[in-house]
Amino acid sequence: MTTNTITLNNGVQMPGLGLGVFQTPPAETSEAVAEALRIGYRHIDTAAAYGNEREVGEGIRRSGLERSEIFVETKVWINDYGLEETRHAFDKSASKLGVEQIDLLILHQPLSEDFARTLDAYRALEKLLADGKVRAIGVSNFLPAHMKRLLAETTVQPAVNQIELHPYFQQRDVQKLDNQQEILTQAWSPIGGITAYAGGEKRTFDDPVLREIGQRHGKTAVQVMLRWHLQEGRSAIPKSTKPARIAENFDVFDFELSLEQIAAIDGLDTGVRSGPDPDSITLETYGRDIPEA
Ligand code: NAP
Repeated sequence: MTTNTITLNNGVQMPGLGLGVFQTPPAETSEAVAEALRIGYRHIDTAAAYGNEREVGEGIRRSGLERSEIFVETKVWINDYGLEETRHAFDKSASKLGVEQIDLLILHQPLSEDFARTLDAYRALEKLLADGKVRAIGVSNFLPAHMKRLLAETTVQPAVNQIELHPYFQQRDVQKLDNQQEILTQAWSPIGGITAYAGGEKRTFDDPVLREIGQRHGKTAVQVMLRWHLQEGRSAIPKSTKPARIAENFDVFDFELSLEQIAAIDGLDTGVRSGPDPDSITLETYGRDIPEA
């Protein structure tokens, strides 16, 4: 596989490998985005809750590229769930980003304590899609129970489910349902950054199996993880603020993992989540107001 294009279930084309900007400080965001776009990235993943949508927009404008060449993905935070609230969340994000249309707008989390509100938020996304304000809609951190309920109670199939997914936590049950429903699984923390910054004992970066596979291809463990996602048909959005790493993470289109190597990486799954359990996300514990544009 040498191209970076994935076709979503509604026919929209999306670059599979993009740049993530969670925890990228606003002051460093525009530079990181512009650098990524200079190198060849064409997809940026941000979120209202990251507090850096404005700087993502600045980076896009600094790149000098046409708006139509860049795929912009952002997420609605739980405080903005609801028919009217989510409509307004689009206005806030689009204004901060400085764009008329968002390529992919997704719900950041299922709000299990008030799933009716989550469903209304999704219905607002459906309306935004019908009105041409967004090109595709989706969800994040949806477990099979959330997804089944969403599919039963709404109309438009989500294009994407963005979930924690790296060699140590592969969520095969979620991927299976996504595949059955033609929903693209998009990996967050695709290189296992969360196994390092969440303070766990085992970091994907140091994994001997990944390193050994990398050595055989003249690549790093990180590049092996990204290649693994792409060959298994997923989107991946690694984050870095460092130019050398931004470049390293995009230099994955000139080698191919063997079936045995893919199987070895599949075998690294521990089944242990590093990020929060989606059902633990409540307005009380994680709620925060998203400022107006
Ligand atoms: P990640 O991309 O797996 O890892 C990022 C971490 O790895 C950073 O600490 C980065 O540090 C470091 N890094 C990057 N490239 C490296 C390289 N080549 N070698 C060694 N270290 C490297 O983790 P993530 O940021 O958690 O996830 C990626 C994106 O997914 C986020 O930015 C965000 O867009 C999205 N996300 C979504 C959710 C959600 O709930 N939907 C949750 C988390 C993340 P430096 O910046 O210092 O290079």
